[in-house]
Amino acid sequence: MEILRIPRIMQETSKRLIQQGKSIGFVPTMGALHNGHLSLLKRARDENAVVVASIFVNPLQFGANEDLNKYPRDLEGDIEKLKAEQTNILFLPDAKSLYPDTFQTYVSVSELSEKLCGAFRPGHFRGVTTVVNKLFNIVKPHRAYFGQKDYQQFVIIKKMVADLNMDIEVIACSTIRENDGVAMSSRNIYLSPDERKAAEIINKCLLFASQSLQSGESNLSAIKQRMSDMLKGEPLVSEVQYAGIYDPDSLDELKEIKRQNLLAIALKIGNTRLIDNMLVDIL
Ligand code: AMP
Repeated sequence: MEILRIPRIMQETSKRLIQQGKSIGFVPTMGALHNGHLSLLKRARDENAVVVASIFVNPLQFGANEDLNKYPRDLEGDIEKLKAEQTNILFLPDAKSLYPDTFQTYVSVSELSEKLCGAFRPGHFRGVTTVVNKLFNIVKPHRAYFGQKDYQQFVIIKKMVADLNMDIEVIACSTIRENDGVAMSSRNIYLSPDERKAAEIINKCLLFASQSLQSGESNLSAIKQRMSDMLKGEPLVSEVQYAGIYDPDSLDELKEIKRQNLLAIALKIGNTRLIDNMLVDIL
């Protein structure tokens, strides 16, 4: 596996690969890799001649009171995992090379970025779309892989690619979970053993709501209320930011059930913010 740190060199390398007729699959990450990330890499490996992963903890997507400085980092472990997945290139830029002091250009997907997590993390998605745009211009992928775990991020990136006529296929991969149903996340290591146990309530709540929808319950505000009650009934949940049933395209709250429905939750356990979601198809 080649490790490239300089944007211009990554870009020249990609140009050469494209000239050779090779397809490039790209998996952007913030590192501290787990099986969720690895599932994206496996899919990229199956579908492309060359797999590029990036590790970059993007300061632009962290709020002033968020965990930028303590975000988990494990570069050595990550490199071993990337090699084991037969990743061809790791792009590992530093913040100065992506955001020199003179940097002043931002990309934002206006409406979708204000909803759900956006309401609680002002500027977060602008940071995500700006860095993903930069990474796409540097890596020049044919296909880019994102986790359904961050469903809003996936929808926003798809919208950016469509609105800006970018010639990139954006692919969503299923959420990978621990045995107890908790979605894998680099941030799970912030949780104490009791908090980690308490996090099980999120998936339980999604499963409850999914079963309610599938068994024909059509009173969405009643389901939403039950979701909220369930989450607030867990003593270690310190704040429920949102929990409900949304349109998977517009991310607006649904008043009536649709053919496909998005269940989504964001909450805090202690100081750790966790998100999860589930798509429910009604046949
Ligand atoms: P991150 O390093 O958290 O920015 O995540 C990098 C990519 O991995 C994003 O596309 C995430 O949606 C995806 N990802 C994170 N956790 C999971 C998971 N449990 N299952 C599937 N994909 C995930």
